[in-house]
Amino acid sequence: MAQIDTLPPLREVIRQHELMAKKSLGQNFLLDLNLTAKIARAGGSLEGINVVEVGPGPGGLTRALLACGARHVVAVERDERCLAALAEIAAHYPGRLTVHAGDALEADWPALIAGLEGPVRITANLPYNVATPLLIGWLKTEPWPPWFQSMTLMFQKEVAERIVATEAEEAYGRLGVLAGWRTEAEIVFDVPPSAFVPPPKVTSSVVHLRPRPAPLPCTPAALERITQAAFGQRRKMLRQSLKGLGGDLTAALADAGLRPEMRAEEVPVAAFVALANALK
Ligand code: SAM
Repeated sequence: MAQIDTLPPLREVIRQHELMAKKSLGQNFLLDLNLTAKIARAGGSLEGINVVEVGPGPGGLTRALLACGARHVVAVERDERCLAALAEIAAHYPGRLTVHAGDALEADWPALIAGLEGPVRITANLPYNVATPLLIGWLKTEPWPPWFQSMTLMFQKEVAERIVATEAEEAYGRLGVLAGWRTEAEIVFDVPPSAFVPPPKVTSSVVHLRPRPAPLPCTPAALERITQAAFGQRRKMLRQSLKGLGGDLTAALADAGLRPEMRAEEVPVAAFVALANALK
């Protein structure tokens, strides 16, 4: 894809606005327009769809989202150096881009999307240093089903594998249980370090998560209490790792279809939910 809009090339934008990447802000920029378009479309057609983007930076993915037809993009960027470049994009797509300067970890998402008409998706090349807490925050959204229709997010490949892992996989842990309980998550493609400026040390992966409309009844807090105890001592048998939680552990394990000598990594999401509810 040679050109997606008539704005200056991203390298030129970065040079003009002196956006030298800051490691402390997890800045690894995507300049390849084919790749940004592929990420923008990974969640399906964008016609009529609003998008929340965290960390637009110089705006490569933002421009792809708008060029691919997103109705409105609401972006949260912490680095004030990027705001002028983003204002140029907003002027190029009148009324379709709103940029909030600030920390996405402190964002009030329902307030930021108030007034938008139509479905909202989250799409972001996340800053690695806050990617997992942001995802956990979205997965713990109340009420559920949440305000977003899907999430298409870039993570370090190792984190992506933990998000999509199921029982008996090495990467299975607390994140996989939380994500698997509330969403259907899949890795859609990997992105090599060479796609970023500057290149990170590791491969990245784009993960697509679709909220389950009716996850098994439980609360994030109850589920976290169990998975923290179980995976906190993941080599121990459940009868040992869960014994401090109170309640009738023997009965709860039996009701969940689990043997007391099983380990956390062998327990499917549904059984964790059953334990969380039994040992509340
Ligand atoms: N979206 C751009 C792209 O794909 O080229 C930049 C992605 S870069 C990996 C992450 C972006 O998130 C940077 O622009 C960085 O300044 C921003 N950022 C870092 N921490 C943030 C935070 N807590 N809240 C909002 N934005 C943040």
